[in-house]
Amino acid sequence: MLDKVLIANRGEIALRIFRACRELGIKTVAVHSTADATLKHVLLADETVCIGPPPSAQSYLNMPALIAAAEVTDAIAIHPGYGFLSENADFAERVVESGFVFIGPLPETIRLMGDKVSAIRAMKQSGVSCVPGSDGPLSDDGDENLRIAREIGYPVIIKAAGGGGGRGMRVVHSEASLLNAIAITKSEALSAFANDQVYMEKFLETPRHVEFQVLADNHGNAIHLGERDCSMQRRHQKVVEEAPAPGISDDVRRTIGERCAQACVDIGYRGAGTFEFLYENGEFYFIEMNTRVQVEHPVTEMVTGCDIVKTQLLIAAGEPLPWSQGDIRWWGHAIECRINAEDPKTFMPSPGTVQLWHAPGGPGIRTDSHVYSGYAVPPHYDSLIGKLIAHGENRGSAIARMTTALSEIVVEGIRTNVALHQEIFQHGAFKTGGTDIHYLEKRLGLK
Ligand code: ADP
Repeated sequence: MLDKVLIANRGEIALRIFRACRELGIKTVAVHSTADATLKHVLLADETVCIGPPPSAQSYLNMPALIAAAEVTDAIAIHPGYGFLSENADFAERVVESGFVFIGPLPETIRLMGDKVSAIRAMKQSGVSCVPGSDGPLSDDGDENLRIAREIGYPVIIKAAGGGGGRGMRVVHSEASLLNAIAITKSEALSAFANDQVYMEKFLETPRHVEFQVLADNHGNAIHLGERDCSMQRRHQKVVEEAPAPGISDDVRRTIGERCAQACVDIGYRGAGTFEFLYENGEFYFIEMNTRVQVEHPVTEMVTGCDIVKTQLLIAAGEPLPWSQGDIRWWGHAIECRINAEDPKTFMPSPGTVQLWHAPGGPGIRTDSHVYSGYAVPPHYDSLIGKLIAHGENRGSAIARMTTALSEIVVEGIRTNVALHQEIFQHGAFKTGGTDIHYLEKRLGLK
């Protein structure tokens, strides 16, 4: 087993990783910026290292500081969590070159899947269906690009190969604006991602976001843990997630899940990962792979009983997967609400001191949060302050439990989006299930 793990992250996911390490008897090193000395996992970890001032670029994204912290504490491995450097192939490479274990896939796999053009190419080779689109990056030949768009049919979306976080995309509705849109997306991509490659896809009008969780070890084994529906989004940011996805049959889950697991074997994948799809008219279209643990992993843990973060640690220690595909069973339904420190109407961040914090409880309720009464939410980072997860024997029961939990949670001193969640859970369409990715923004009057 890994003797000591450095947690290269903050907030709720750092606490989640800390807990998994504790459970396995692994010693922990918490690194933190000067703004984060009172984070819960920092207070609980075996060792702590301050890696720099509040701005992420000088702390959580500071590779030399992170490697040095691992060196001085004799850590064996580094867990990157999500966000920050978790999908940075250069960081993974530096971790490995410095003699540490990177808890995630090989650097070259991160690179392959981090470039959307090469990821799509690899998935097509594995038989995973992708959105109809250009075969690779677009050239500078305007006539050729007009021809490709005509063949796909408008609307189309121009996407940056190096894009991420919902940036570097432009929808084009008619031929007149195509070439200009390609030129603008290219120049934006160059300045934002240092890569001006763009490609074209059919723009799907009312898709759902459905993603599959996979786990793969160093011994050629790969399994899937089924899917999550993350269609409830605002500005491409997920707000509510659930597992299983409403309306997905066992047969479809098996077919798509097994294809994802096979794709893992084909690309030599290792660790936890997610295949993201757009789902429309009964068809799945691969859009990208996330080569890390995701914010919404708990809903999958609740319905399968598999601890994804613990499994990441076991895989990194070289152990084989503890389950084969036949061992995986799904029970009930789980829903997650992301609790953000933000105004529920304007969505403006609301940092500050949490005067009083009370986490809800009861059957099937799980709260993943680093917040405690008196904790000050710093203004420098993401506004996620916790995740509320409800599990029940079916979707109705999970909704009822979540509604109760949302009425119990107390967060005083800062504004949160709890009221927005309470509102969502009253919607008839949400109760029915299966709303598309534009539903929430339309409902909020943003579209
Ligand atoms: P990122 O890496 O920036 O998150 P993705 O490729 O995952 O980019 O796309 C983010 C979101 O953009 C999707 O969840 C979806 O809402 C929208 N999107 C991307 N591609 C398409 C498409 N072909 N048709 C419709 N919407 C799309």
